[in-house]
Amino acid sequence: MTHPIEYCIQPASPQAHLFNVELRVHDPDPAGQRLTLPAWIPGSYMIRDFSRQLQMMSATCAGDPVALHRLDKQTWRAEAVSAELVVSYQVYAWDLSVRSAHLDTTHGFFNGTSVFLRVVGQEHAACLVRIQPPPTTVGEAWRLATTLPALAVDSEGFGDHQADDYEHLIDCPVEMGRFTEVDFVAADVTHEMVISGRHVCDTGRLCRDLKLICETHAALFGELPVSRYLFLTTVVGEGYGGLEHRDSTSLLCRRDDLPLAGMDKPTEGYRQFLGLCSHEYFHLWNVKRIRPQRLKDADLSSEVHTELLWAFEGITSYYDELALARSRCIEPASYLQLLAETVTRVTRGAGRLKQSVAESSYDAWTKFYKQDENAPNAIVSYYTKGALIAFGLDVTLRLLTGDRVSLNTLMRALWLRYGKPDIGVPEDGVERLASELAGTSLDDFFQNYVHGVAELPLPQWFASMGIGFRLRPAKEPDDKGGRCPPEETVPSVPVLGARFRQSGDLVELTHVFDDGAAQSAGLSAGDRLIALDGIQVKATNLAQAVATTLANGSRRVHLLRRDELMSFVIHPKPAPADTCDLWLLPEDQLDDAVLKRRRSWLSAG
Ligand code: ZN
Repeated sequence: MTHPIEYCIQPASPQAHLFNVELRVHDPDPAGQRLTLPAWIPGSYMIRDFSRQLQMMSATCAGDPVALHRLDKQTWRAEAVSAELVVSYQVYAWDLSVRSAHLDTTHGFFNGTSVFLRVVGQEHAACLVRIQPPPTTVGEAWRLATTLPALAVDSEGFGDHQADDYEHLIDCPVEMGRFTEVDFVAADVTHEMVISGRHVCDTGRLCRDLKLICETHAALFGELPVSRYLFLTTVVGEGYGGLEHRDSTSLLCRRDDLPLAGMDKPTEGYRQFLGLCSHEYFHLWNVKRIRPQRLKDADLSSEVHTELLWAFEGITSYYDELALARSRCIEPASYLQLLAETVTRVTRGAGRLKQSVAESSYDAWTKFYKQDENAPNAIVSYYTKGALIAFGLDVTLRLLTGDRVSLNTLMRALWLRYGKPDIGVPEDGVERLASELAGTSLDDFFQNYVHGVAELPLPQWFASMGIGFRLRPAKEPDDKGGRCPPEETVPSVPVLGARFRQSGDLVELTHVFDDGAAQSAGLSAGDRLIALDGIQVKATNLAQAVATTLANGSRRVHLLRRDELMSFVIHPKPAPADTCDLWLLPEDQLDDAVLKRRRSWLSAG
């Protein structure tokens, strides 16, 4: 039996944001033990080079120093030794995100990918993890929250924990501090909600809603394959993010997104927070257990490319909001508002006509995660367009099988074929299983919408579900779609074809859209607008000023590009019909089959 790898971590200097870590390798590689830190964290497809926060690394064996040689940016090799190797280092932790580590005098948080070196060749050995409390000077009563199984811990949760192997170790984020902790039971499993940061959350309301959402997802898959589940939430003034794990999730949300006592209908912020919880929880199956073969094999040292993120993030994005309606946390009309916003976001990007969602998945590392001013023109989101493709696949499966098969059937089949037996999903696995369940080839569907850039037939898809659909011009610059009754006509006023923000006294263009008035006139992202027809503009009145341009009229723009004053003539163009509204068609206008399909879609599926 191999000896466990021992890690000891202490929030040793909260004021300096430093964790101290000690690693003991009982049986180091006789050729010299290699140690390496991941370059990225599963679920977030970007090279982050966590090793840049390691410092003061040293090694000893039986009290004598052992030399460490660098092999690359994140890998060390210790001189060969014949007894236990002890490696010590510090990790600087000052990134308040769900992806790395953060430590100050109020709390500590870390992912294993930021703090635990991998012992090359012993990745499958069990790990013993000793998590120590902060120095007593930092204040009293810090507690610990993690899904790492406890071996011998004190009443606050500090002490010895274990992990099955390195993969398990880095899949269990750890929070320590003075947090709120509540729990609820869903599908016979205890779920804990830990909230760090100042808040006045109505935790009773939150637990009631989450229970319904969790049970909706568990019912879809037919089982809940965890013995406990932990939501680790960090509350901030401004911020948003989530990262999925097998039996927990790290979340970052706005204080105002949490429910207050006495709230009736969910606010938009609370609806978004429930959607985030729902999203990460759905990942417990879709991507953490049903996972692409290529990600299953990843050693986290460099990029791993898969064309399947549209399925793992897109289908998850589809179900995260749909589950809010199915669990009755929100009304169907409120759900359609969210779906209309998704359609609007996709429709507004010309990149959807240039990049397929399969390409977007493959290039997530260099494009989706590294978006610049040209992103809306060049790339498409595998989240938003992936969600619409998931909806289209749901509709298509129902229509082809007389409503016997839906996307739920496909997800359950993916779970049974790949997730439950822990078999990686091949690159064509989702498509082949969908065709198998449909009883006919869906190659055209996937070629057109997943591997190609054909416009999605949204009017037909929504009509088949008994949903009214329209695209119209935006009413105002912050019109996200989904909030205009179908009987209201929205005129198309002249627009600039650019996104902008106030920057000091000037208006800075952040994005210039393909074939819009700004691009045609020669304006570029980064330009700082001064005046329109000789009158100073502000972000608050620019859209209105452009809108009053007469048909075929022109406007003179003065702006600064870098430090040069420039002047352009712009011909504002009518606003495109890129804003979506969706609504429930009256029941008496629908076939029985369509009405039945809609009821099934909006309830259990
Ligand atoms: Zn996700």
